[in-house]
Amino acid sequence: MQRCAIRVRGAVQGVGFRPFVYRVALELGLSGWVLNDAEGVAIEAQGTAAQLQDFALRLRRDAPPRARVDALEQQPCPVHIGADGFAIHPSRGGAVKTGVVPDTATCDDCLAELFDPADRRHRYAFINCTQCGPRYTITRALPYDRAQTSMAAFAQCPRCLAEYRDPLHRRFHAEPNACPDCGPALRLVDAHGRPLPGDPLFATLALLRGGAIVAIKGLGGYHLACDAQQPAAVATLRQRKQREEKPFAVMAADLPSALHWVQADAQAQALLAGPERPVLLLPQQPGVGARLPGVAPGLTQLGMMLPCTPIQHLLFHEAAGIHNVKTADHSCPAPSLLLVMTSANPGGEPIVCADDDALERLRDIADALLLHDREIVARCDDSVLRIAAGGAPQFVRRARGWTPRAIQLPRAGPPVLATGAWLKNTVCVTRDDQAFLSPHVGDLDNVATCAALEEAVEHLCRVLDVQPRAVAHDLHPDFFSTRFAAAYAQQHGLRCHAVQHHHAHIAAIAAEHGVREPLLGLALDGVGLGDDGAAWGGELLRVDGGACQRLGHLRPLALPGGEVAAREPWRLAAAVLHALGRGDEIEARWPERPAAAPVAQMLQHGLRCPPSSSLGRCFDAAAALLGVREVQAFEGQAPMLLEALVHDAPAPAIGLVELGSSGQLDPLPLLARLADEPDAARGATLFHAELVDGLARWAAQAAESTGLRAVALGGGCFLNARLSAGLVAALQARGLQALQARQAPPNDGGIALGQAWVALCREGD
Ligand SMILES: [Zn+2]
Ligand SMILES: [Zn+2]
Repeated sequence: MQRCAIRVRGAVQGVGFRPFVYRVALELGLSGWVLNDAEGVAIEAQGTAAQLQDFALRLRRDAPPRARVDALEQQPCPVHIGADGFAIHPSRGGAVKTGVVPDTATCDDCLAELFDPADRRHRYAFINCTQCGPRYTITRALPYDRAQTSMAAFAQCPRCLAEYRDPLHRRFHAEPNACPDCGPALRLVDAHGRPLPGDPLFATLALLRGGAIVAIKGLGGYHLACDAQQPAAVATLRQRKQREEKPFAVMAADLPSALHWVQADAQAQALLAGPERPVLLLPQQPGVGARLPGVAPGLTQLGMMLPCTPIQHLLFHEAAGIHNVKTADHSCPAPSLLLVMTSANPGGEPIVCADDDALERLRDIADALLLHDREIVARCDDSVLRIAAGGAPQFVRRARGWTPRAIQLPRAGPPVLATGAWLKNTVCVTRDDQAFLSPHVGDLDNVATCAALEEAVEHLCRVLDVQPRAVAHDLHPDFFSTRFAAAYAQQHGLRCHAVQHHHAHIAAIAAEHGVREPLLGLALDGVGLGDDGAAWGGELLRVDGGACQRLGHLRPLALPGGEVAAREPWRLAAAVLHALGRGDEIEARWPERPAAAPVAQMLQHGLRCPPSSSLGRCFDAAAALLGVREVQAFEGQAPMLLEALVHDAPAPAIGLVELGSSGQLDPLPLLARLADEPDAARGATLFHAELVDGLARWAAQAAESTGLRAVALGGGCFLNARLSAGLVAALQARGLQALQARQAPPNDGGIALGQAWVALCREGD
């Protein structure tokens, strides 16, 4: 007989780990106990050597799906004479080291109950268990138990409580456990908040089928939903949301229904149907653009998502006429219901998550609102991913399903708060050797989003139980994130680290790949303030932790009129013509633009024409020169439309992007070619192929001169699949290692991670 103390570290709380330990111990006939504490799960187990060996093996091998065992440490301890039975002991407090886990889509066991007429939770919209349901979005503070969540408002009925207390039940310590007798309830109201009659789900479905727009409360906020197959409904949503052309995400009933609309390989299907349930950008099936007019205008991809919450499952099941999964054919006949599901974030403000706020802010958009009384404590948008080179997923936006999952850093350091940039803001907090990114906060161009940043900082620090010791921010002095960082640092007496935008992009990739050595970085994006005060965005960098050296940059283009040029690509095209000595063509080329003549004048005299080395602006120029897009309806639209035109088989590159002296890369000869190209698709193909070729030669030259072999690819331009896939292949062909953003978005949504890592490195130096 032996006794063993076992320490389990990792994501092991709130995922059914203790009952799992209990069941295995009972099966093996061990005695002892298990409990949650500040460091994870502690176990003492007593049995024969063979039994204990078996136990340790099964703790690793058979852990519940949502658990992640990082370490399992064993130490012999004195045998208890006459020990009998195995028990789950009450949790022990202390400093919190474990985390809240992300929200998770309804599991198969719960779905089976949801559609079983004999089950007491049949059609109950708040069914969940230890393997599924809300977590991060209902948690106010740690430790994670019901009293600290928005479920504290609902006392469990005797039957729920019995499940909650039974170690062998799959709802043992499922903190949001509830049933129709004791839990939250749905209600449907009109735009004025007046209750609508009938079953809320049936009535919602009837409204959607009638072409109405319904706001539906999700896990981390409201969606605006309408029938994607009714062009009039989609057009109304666009008009009311004042979102003229930005693509909408859609939700299909299940995988077979989704494949009716998009193409997905096995890996993409697994991601679509996985527990995180992101929006996944996938190639449309042929003809879908015409069948869903107005959903993703001009684009070849579609953002697809599968149902995540019981409410969403119920809507799709009702639509398919399935009320009982045991008797019905579960596969939905195509084409079944397809819903537009877009974040309810009117005016670019944060996603609506409170009921009173929804009634106030959505009454001019939604015809009805499907509400419930389980409060959303932490706002969390849908995550958005795309499939990158080699089939691996890449974040466009990292939020629900992943927040607050840790990103492992190469080493530990003091806790750091990083406040991100301006667009697509997120914040980041580190604890020991882990980084935690907040969910998507948004563009800091309005008061509400700025307030959401403050909330995100407060909530993240609270659920991690962290007091930051240093603050990191962007170099730009006017960003709200920078001013907030300065005020926060002053208030708490902390050091502040300003981190150059593109340094942060590359550092984010170094951090998540565990790179502590110097590396090269191609930072390609729309704009970021450079060390010299100019607008950067096409940078070749050498990054060494807290230090960064600019090895080269794209030949700058003039931005006629400054910031307005980013919204009006034709101004960039005009700047290209001017740089080519063809400024006299500007007025004739855009005769319908009143600003054409002034722009030509500005370029000629160098007035209000700040230079920018941004690759994003170069894409804008290319799109406008080819007549693809002259004015953007949303950020990144022109490059997206340009990418959608690219042929699959480009001609071999002929070196139109030139490597100049002093590390400059000159795209002007390539843009000159586009200025006279009548075929937009041919031009777009040429542009991408030549750009990839030029960038690869540029990086290879730097690798040669520095002796570095790893190249990190950071910045929003890498969301362009043609650019990133092409460049990865071209770098690998030259024997270089290409590092891509995997755990955080390559765009500004991941910049806080890089800022935090730079500050952590500087703090340690
Ligand atoms: Zn479940
Ligand atoms: Zn109950």
